[in-house]
Amino acid sequence: MTEWFTETLHEGVAQALTIDKVRFRQRTDHQDLIIFENRVHGRVLALDGVVQVTTGDEFVYHEMIAHVPLLAHGRARRVLIIGGGDGGTARRCLCHPVDRVTMVEIDRSVVDLCCTHMPEVGAQAFDDPRLDLVIADGAAYVAETDERFDVIIIDSTDPIGPGQVLFTPAFYAACHRCLTPGGILVNQAGVPALQGSELTAVTRALRTSFADVWAYTAVVPTYYGGIMTLGWASDDPGARHVDRATLAARAEEAGIVGRYYSPAVHVASFALPPWVEALITAG
Ligand code: SAM
Repeated sequence: MTEWFTETLHEGVAQALTIDKVRFRQRTDHQDLIIFENRVHGRVLALDGVVQVTTGDEFVYHEMIAHVPLLAHGRARRVLIIGGGDGGTARRCLCHPVDRVTMVEIDRSVVDLCCTHMPEVGAQAFDDPRLDLVIADGAAYVAETDERFDVIIIDSTDPIGPGQVLFTPAFYAACHRCLTPGGILVNQAGVPALQGSELTAVTRALRTSFADVWAYTAVVPTYYGGIMTLGWASDDPGARHVDRATLAARAEEAGIVGRYYSPAVHVASFALPPWVEALITAG
């Protein structure tokens, strides 16, 4: 008898994946966690019934949420990741010539279990001396820290449960305070075909603190519903208009070669379909 994992994040539609083998299932202090094997996407981590990362397509999301801001910035030395418990974002950030990556993850269980059951996602990130792992609420961290960062990456769950606080104007104001001049913030901003109102709300909230707010896209097969958006915020409008040749030179110097990311994909990802642009300008 085939068991199915049915993701019910959205009203009226769902995605289902066969559970070919359960690797781990537990209610942590913060959320329901399951790691299972699926014959198509590999190992799957889901939190509170929502797919977070799969070994099959994690490269898409993690390359785009890390390489785009870091190559656009061009001289980032200190990076803050909020969330990112699977280690995939940290791993890509550490491919760059950064001095430090601070990762603030609320649920230690996610880190431990991903290291055990899907170690290839984070690879050696957690052993890298440049990584500083902080187990805490990201909102509390940015409200209190004296640290300053060149890039902030909010690799969070959706605005439900512990992730909800990471989508508020107060949180973005605290992030803005923690950025160095010319700094860049990016965040997971959902699938606009099914979460369009969230994209509008995120851009409206970001605009309360940042001069230039936009989004860029990626196609992650297990983030059901078509293109997904990553929110973009900076006080430097030029940061999202870096030309392909400059990006290519920076990528070559850093030794960045992606399976989804390329300088051409970077530039193209900021070209939004009019219906998505309308969701942003409505914000
Ligand atoms: N790539 C996924 C996506 O796009 O939905 C996100 C993956 S990552 C596993 C999401 C992480 O955010 C989880 O490990 C979760 O524990 C963490 N998280 C949720 N709320 C948080 C908060 N307030 N502070 C820090 N981490 C948080």
